[in-house]
Amino acid sequence: SGARVRRAQNRRLPQYLERGVDVKFSDVAGLGKIRLELEEIVKFFTHGEMYRRRGVKIPGGILLCGPPGVGKTLLAKAVAGEAGVNFFSISASQFVEIYVGVGASRVRALYQEARECAPSVVFIDELDAVGRERGLIKGSGGQERDATLNQLLVCLDGFEGRGNVITIASTNRPDILDPALVRPGRFDRKIYIPKPGLIGRIEILKVHARKKPMAEDVDYTAVASMTDGMVGAELANIIEVAAINMMRDGRTEITTDDLLQAAQMEERGMLDRKERSPEMWKQVAINEAAMAVVAVNFPDLRNIEFVTIAPRAGRDLGYVRVKMDHIKFKEGMLSRQSLLDHITVQLAPRAADELWYGESQLSTIWAETADNARSAARTFVLGGLSEKHYGLSNFWAADRINDIDTEALRILNMCYGRAKEILQENRKLMDAIVDELVQNKSLSKQDFFHLVGLHGSLKRVPPTI
Ligand code: ADP
Repeated sequence: SGARVRRAQNRRLPQYLERGVDVKFSDVAGLGKIRLELEEIVKFFTHGEMYRRRGVKIPGGILLCGPPGVGKTLLAKAVAGEAGVNFFSISASQFVEIYVGVGASRVRALYQEARECAPSVVFIDELDAVGRERGLIKGSGGQERDATLNQLLVCLDGFEGRGNVITIASTNRPDILDPALVRPGRFDRKIYIPKPGLIGRIEILKVHARKKPMAEDVDYTAVASMTDGMVGAELANIIEVAAINMMRDGRTEITTDDLLQAAQMEERGMLDRKERSPEMWKQVAINEAAMAVVAVNFPDLRNIEFVTIAPRAGRDLGYVRVKMDHIKFKEGMLSRQSLLDHITVQLAPRAADELWYGESQLSTIWAETADNARSAARTFVLGGLSEKHYGLSNFWAADRINDIDTEALRILNMCYGRAKEILQENRKLMDAIVDELVQNKSLSKQDFFHLVGLHGSLKRVPPTI
């Protein structure tokens, strides 16, 4: 047996080869036009001869740029999978070693393997770990990295234009890469992969749902619209967590509710990574709770999907998601009363700030919603909806700019009064929601309406003006 062991040791197994990579473009969703660029890279492999005959230069390296989790690795695998070539991968952070020479020899070994098994894709994750501009880091660590980077440049040049080994690297920081890396013949093609938008998120959810027992009526749009700012990796995780919930309850199908709950958990996870002072959490909770508590009093706004104070990309505060079935703000189909209700909801944070913190300690946390209220009030008056003061027939007749502002102000004050009144009547409900939000950051539809049932004092008849 000693002989067999020796033989196995002598036969060098490729270390960096990933076996069984079977990813196709259809596994990567929400790419839009980017897909065309990647299909071209596949053609460099499958139609390499044609490119060479026509004198078209094949890039040595492709840089996939974008935040973590958007699917850069998945895409590199899909290129290999579609072209039917071997996939070699390494994370550049593994190149960076304390022992001088190790990084460079790893790069050499990686490329030697890729060449022996060509055609192949070499994937380098986190290129910026080794590809930062040379000479920036002092000391032996810096020297080591420079040596590794130099080796990488040599290897890239060795394959320039041949098309049988193509390097794909990923980075979130293309701006800090050494200029030598992005010179023609090296990483001379950059592809940006952004975070998915609403449609992209729907598509990604659907791709991951393919292999799961989904209920027939799953509302992917609802899940996608509450996962604003999330990337593919997080969306994939939502499907996994939903599947676990289903199993735990002994059910056989994943429902929309499973997905929404999983999305909330994912969101909470994101939020643990962001810091806020306890006082700030509370203030944001009061802000959002006030909107939800006022909204639930109004027929067109009471269909509240969830309330959250979890920070999302591009948003400092939390939000209340109201599902608007039959009112369409954009199409201007809002009824007169609904517009007044909407203004009232937008003023709720300002009213809550006054009630909870007092006139002397007002903050500007409500600035954005107060702005919404102001512009809605002007729309209301300018649209001739406030017919108590202006008959529709003579509305456009005179120069009434001052009158319009005065009337808008009257409406704002009136709505503000209503918001304050509703909040005062619902102090208990407010406190309960704020507590829950501060503790758990999010409130599901069920939790919210449970608290409303326990503590709410709803106004059935909206006051008119
Ligand atoms: P990155 O390399 O950009 O950090 P990954 O490719 O490692 O991201 O993504 C991790 C996982 O997230 C993938 O294996 C896949 O399950 C899922 N994923 C990410 N983006 C997408 C996408 N656009 N379509 C489908 N799944 C995705």
